[in-house]
Amino acid sequence: MSETIHSTLEERRVFPPPADFAAKAHIGTRAEYEKLYRESIDHPEQFFGRIAEELHWFKKWDKVLDWQVPNAKWFVGGKTNVAYNCLDRQIDLGRGDKTAILWEGEPETAAGAGGEVRKITYKQLRDDVSKLANGLKSIGVKKGDRVTIYMPMVPEAAVAMLACARIGAAHSVIFGGFSSQAIADRVDDAQCTVIITADGGYRRGTVVPLKRNVDDALTKTDRVKKVVVLNRCNMPVADGVAPGSIAWKEGRDVWYHDLVGTQSADCPAEPMDSEDTLFVLYTSGSTGKPKGIQHTTAGYLLGTYLTTKYVFDMKPDDVYWCTADVGWITGHSYIVYGPLANGTTCLMYEGAPNHPDFGRFWSIIERHKVSVFYTAPTAIRAFMKAGKEFPQKHDLSSLRLLGTVGEPINPEAWMWYHTVIGHEKCPIVDTWWQTETGAIMITPLPGVTPTKPGTATLPFFGVDAAIVDRSGKELGPNEGGLLVIRKPWPSMLRSIFNDPERYAKTYWSDVPGYYFTGDGARRDNDGYFWIMGRVDDVINVSGHRLGTMEIESALVAHEAVAEAAVVGIPHEMKGQGIAAFVTLETGRRADEALKKDLIAWVRKQIGALATPDQIRFTESLPKTRSGKIMRRLLKEVASGNEVKGDVTTLEDFSVLAKLKEKDEG
Ligand code: ATP
Ligand code: MG
Repeated sequence: MSETIHSTLEERRVFPPPADFAAKAHIGTRAEYEKLYRESIDHPEQFFGRIAEELHWFKKWDKVLDWQVPNAKWFVGGKTNVAYNCLDRQIDLGRGDKTAILWEGEPETAAGAGGEVRKITYKQLRDDVSKLANGLKSIGVKKGDRVTIYMPMVPEAAVAMLACARIGAAHSVIFGGFSSQAIADRVDDAQCTVIITADGGYRRGTVVPLKRNVDDALTKTDRVKKVVVLNRCNMPVADGVAPGSIAWKEGRDVWYHDLVGTQSADCPAEPMDSEDTLFVLYTSGSTGKPKGIQHTTAGYLLGTYLTTKYVFDMKPDDVYWCTADVGWITGHSYIVYGPLANGTTCLMYEGAPNHPDFGRFWSIIERHKVSVFYTAPTAIRAFMKAGKEFPQKHDLSSLRLLGTVGEPINPEAWMWYHTVIGHEKCPIVDTWWQTETGAIMITPLPGVTPTKPGTATLPFFGVDAAIVDRSGKELGPNEGGLLVIRKPWPSMLRSIFNDPERYAKTYWSDVPGYYFTGDGARRDNDGYFWIMGRVDDVINVSGHRLGTMEIESALVAHEAVAEAAVVGIPHEMKGQGIAAFVTLETGRRADEALKKDLIAWVRKQIGALATPDQIRFTESLPKTRSGKIMRRLLKEVASGNEVKGDVTTLEDFSVLAKLKEKDEG
């Protein structure tokens, strides 16, 4: 039986880059992209060796690449420091007084006025980082140690990451929405002895009790010797049980301001080996138990530097905003390391997109004249559902480029982003990549690549992406198969922390010799990559293998539907049938007539084969805390099974409970 994935959706809309954008872009012609891309694939050592010259080195490398499947070493023998490149190097280039981090807090100072604003220049940031770095040394943190960071979205989160990088300690950032058990698991797995946290953090109008979660976590592990606590919310020290208070453990807990208060602002950056670990970061857990992805120094720095420069076409006067949390890879690579390595002014927002209402993002863009905006499909779909009145109240004319990442973007959501937010003048970069890849892998170049709604288009420099079958044979145009990367790239993961065997097995054994992404995709006649969904989620209907993305996109294209997730269910005749979980636009009635209508709609849009057997209306879909739909849970619910497998990264447990209730009811 063929293993290819059947494609049903056809998208004909094409949007060439606006001529004035292309004229000013770093890379403005297709020929230039092609030439550089060819060089990066045919002569990677020459290409990346040349790019690496744009970074600062304490000692130059001896060899660009040492590769033996599945272990890559980049810039062998080189010595550099990521924090030095993000700070000192920028100051040397004359950017010392430029704003590095432009931060807005969540609580509004007055209705409609936005939150507290802090502007931190590159010089101030270096001072702050150096003081904390010295403070960390004073409590015993050494090169090679690992430090947990569990912080709200405040500048000190970036300061903490950079302070670790400056002294050569690896950080393990844990998203501030995680519970105490998730903290304990990750602290143990990465063997961290110090945690940097805050008393609390503001989120959607309430205070998240971060310190309390850490205290709970530390009853489950005894690894941690010191807890550094930032005072963000002025929570009084008491027994930690009284609402709004925190507990304090003498000898273990130390205030952030006390730790940095007396420290010198001079902390020379530690020369790090190119292959020293920069950080460990856990994946979202969409498909299973989160994996501790290990990234190293020089290759990661180069990858984030280069992609930020070209994908976001970064210019000196840009105000760039990535809405991710620093607890995810997108926050690591595109809030902290990539933008700062380019000397960018990077906006950071503390809170939720809908606080006090769905206009918050658009008011931030207006207030700070954001020019480059990078967000996720899940946010875009939520904004669509909330209505275009929110963005229409604000002046978004400062925007020149839009980006998306995290899930396939349904063409319907892409078009909304393009028209309502981009006013049809901003190119959209749909960027495909993973925690494991460290940096963007498949993406349009905004001045070059004609875009089509729903495709991440073409591979970035050095990325030898292909669609293959299990034997590694490349498939033809429009044949869906496994998305693999055939050559090493600088920002690739080096291992799963402490588990090289799981690393080799997870990524390098399905298709011998190639990195397997876990995603299914096809290339169209223009060579564009269309992600079709996770290979594990492929639905086999009467011997035809269907990806989830296309059926979901057909549903989302219906005017009543806000979001959709499809999964396979056992079916006597067809092997598998299709169950679709659907959330509706505000004000739509969930009734039998609409179910029939949706089934007919999908049949008409993409054909009889993809017709859903069941439509289930739901108020919300189960998602990871980074906003990705967890189809594996829906599959269990739809099949009437008990939900097994890792649910630690599920965002809202009540969503799952409600789905099950409905099923039993
Ligand atoms: P886990 O590996 O634990 O299941 P995860 O894969 O969701 O979690 P991430 O590394 O955050 O964790 O997500 C990477 C995945 O997100 C990709 O493999 C892909 O499925 C999806 N993805 C990211 N960006 C895009 C995009 N632009 N288009 C389509 N899919 C995307
Ligand atoms: Mg993954």
